[in-house]
Amino acid sequence: MLQITNLHVNVEGEEILKGLNLSVSPGELHAIMGRNGSGKSTLANVIAGHDKYKIQSGEILYDGKDLSEMSPEDRSLSGIFMSFQYPVAIPGVNNTYFLKAALNAQRKHRGEEEMDAMDFLTFIKEQMKKVEMGESYLRRAVNEGFSGGEKKRNEILQLLALEPRLAVLDETDSGLDIDALKIVAHGVNNFRRDDRAIVVITHYQRILQHMEPDVIHVLLDGRIAKTGGKELAMELEEKGYSWLEEEAAAD
Ligand code: ADP
Ligand code: MG
Repeated sequence: MLQITNLHVNVEGEEILKGLNLSVSPGELHAIMGRNGSGKSTLANVIAGHDKYKIQSGEILYDGKDLSEMSPEDRSLSGIFMSFQYPVAIPGVNNTYFLKAALNAQRKHRGEEEMDAMDFLTFIKEQMKKVEMGESYLRRAVNEGFSGGEKKRNEILQLLALEPRLAVLDETDSGLDIDALKIVAHGVNNFRRDDRAIVVITHYQRILQHMEPDVIHVLLDGRIAKTGGKELAMELEEKGYSWLEEEAAAD
């Protein structure tokens, strides 16, 4: 579904990703770990199509199509979802309206019938239960005045509402207390399906205790330095990231 080959990306003239390879198949959950500044959000932003992040060489294929030739809107319409590390508030735009407009844009693109207001309310209330959000959030502006944890839950609500094929979740766990962390992890687990793939970006292994990642990658200085199973997350928790830096330096 996602095939990244020897990807080099510049931000503000500086090379941040330096030959990254990543392959994600339908049904899989991948975790990307790495210390601050290793390039995790850069990877998320370049998949989303942020114009500050410039591909210098290498390629990103989504369903075999060159992602760099698709606009951010087309990426979203073709089933790519991004949850950002710092979700933005959209004052004046009602959360229900926003979710409904986004969902119907997707449906229209897929040639499906748009959901009317009544059906949408029933549907979204069901999704909100999964992330334990009260109905009052439907009347609020998107993320405006939301606490850190509420914003992250709202991101997961967007995920559940839009039903993308590929979800990239950037630090969806940061700033969450234990209960909120479990709710968010549960929401993601709920979303898993054979025809969907998820990439969870995190620098803590905490959230991974509540998920079953198939693969864990460690990003180090713009490259995947190590790939392993769930035990790799435990090892990182115990030993930190520096042993990997030593390993990489020895190569
Ligand atoms: P991570 O998410 O792993 O903490 P980032 O991808 O956010 O790392 O950042 C990697 C490097 O790229 C950092 O040195 C950061 O300062 C730089 N960088 C990322 N985005 C920008 C930007 N928009 N402008 C300037 N530098 C950036
Ligand atoms: Mg980041």
